[in-house]
Amino acid sequence: MIRRSLLADLFALAFARPSRFPGQLVIQITNHCNGSCPQCGMRREAEIGRVKLPAETVKKALKDCAENGVDAVSFTGGEPFINIPEILKLLDYARDLKIPYLRSGTNGYMFATGGEAAGLDRLIPLVESLVKSPLRNFWISMDSADTETHERLRGLPGVIDGISKALPVFHARGLYPAVNLGINRCIAGEPIPPLGEGGGEPAFFEKFRQGFSAFFTKAVDMGFTMVNVCYPMSFETLGLGSEEPAYGAISDDMMVNFSRRELRLVFKALLQTIPAFRKSIRIFTPLSVLYALSRENSRDLLFPCLGGICYFYMDSRDGHIYPCGYRGDEDMGASIAELRTLSGDQQPFCERCFWECFMDPSQLFGILRYVVRHPCQVWFGKIPDRQMLRLWLGDIKYYLACDLFDGRKPPKRRWKN
Ligand code: SF4
Ligand code: SF4
Repeated sequence: MIRRSLLADLFALAFARPSRFPGQLVIQITNHCNGSCPQCGMRREAEIGRVKLPAETVKKALKDCAENGVDAVSFTGGEPFINIPEILKLLDYARDLKIPYLRSGTNGYMFATGGEAAGLDRLIPLVESLVKSPLRNFWISMDSADTETHERLRGLPGVIDGISKALPVFHARGLYPAVNLGINRCIAGEPIPPLGEGGGEPAFFEKFRQGFSAFFTKAVDMGFTMVNVCYPMSFETLGLGSEEPAYGAISDDMMVNFSRRELRLVFKALLQTIPAFRKSIRIFTPLSVLYALSRENSRDLLFPCLGGICYFYMDSRDGHIYPCGYRGDEDMGASIAELRTLSGDQQPFCERCFWECFMDPSQLFGILRYVVRHPCQVWFGKIPDRQMLRLWLGDIKYYLACDLFDGRKPPKRRWKN
């Protein structure tokens, strides 16, 4: 019964106008942060104007979301949990409005104190307050399989031990946090040098393949049951010149700067690593997207992004809506209600970056729409690419087997090793 209604929903989605897809809003509630990540423009040392959205502005945005079919809301930062009581109140407010998909995450600073893992006397009440919140998905960032590297980059000593200690407490109470990896050159410790400096393409590919493998192994060993991978965002990968993105989580540090050639190899390494780990940890990242990204003709395979059509970003500096965190020159005003009414028949068109929050669902929906609308072309093997289609079907099957990555559900036995 559940399956049938899910299929009916998917079919209806395939024929809906893109602007009527379930919406998503990413709200940057603050750009304050206590991390020192070199790959981020909001690190604590950065000289930027620090702001936070007034609670009333966030509440108004949440109300607009609830009234306009925006089912998914993510709170991001900075460090969104820098003021824990406040974010918990906002989450409760969103629950009262019945917004079903609430997500947020942390750099994990709260799991350590004085350079060491926090004690259970501190962890248990903290975890219980998060479990009581309506968060469906809660992510904790980790940049490297090497503890020392991660903690040095983040400027958060003791945090990895603290997270490992907190995970069983979360699981025992029914919340399954995901580890969030932002792809970077320090994934296994020592930075992986640019292509050419440390060998040719096979060596570069192999270093990343081993790096991803080490990372997933570490995540499983720590006790994580879910992982999400964020594609690298830098001035170079975004193709930004003097334009300022709205969202400050990018930098020109070499750690996250990749040439297009390097990126293709990085995506290929990830594509080849994930299948071996899908049974031991739930991995959001769709193989069909990685396949497209790893191809020279990636732009022919990718479907345009839904940013600015039904996915939006609210910036903490002005409380205004932008098509995403990167199109900072396209201020869409202060109210999501008007946008959802006005966007009418607007079709997706932007292919400028790889922001996975918007790209992965845009791509998965894009293929679905294509398959349902052009069955003959698919049958005769025209487009999309057959291998991508095969991987996409596997992704959908995997997503269903993983309960659509519901962070309130434990991993299924059959997905365990
Ligand atoms: S990546 Fe996150 S934790 Fe690190 S400086 Fe940026 S906002 Fe802070
Ligand atoms: S492709 Fe990138 S820049 Fe374009 S709308 Fe999507 S997230 Fe924004």
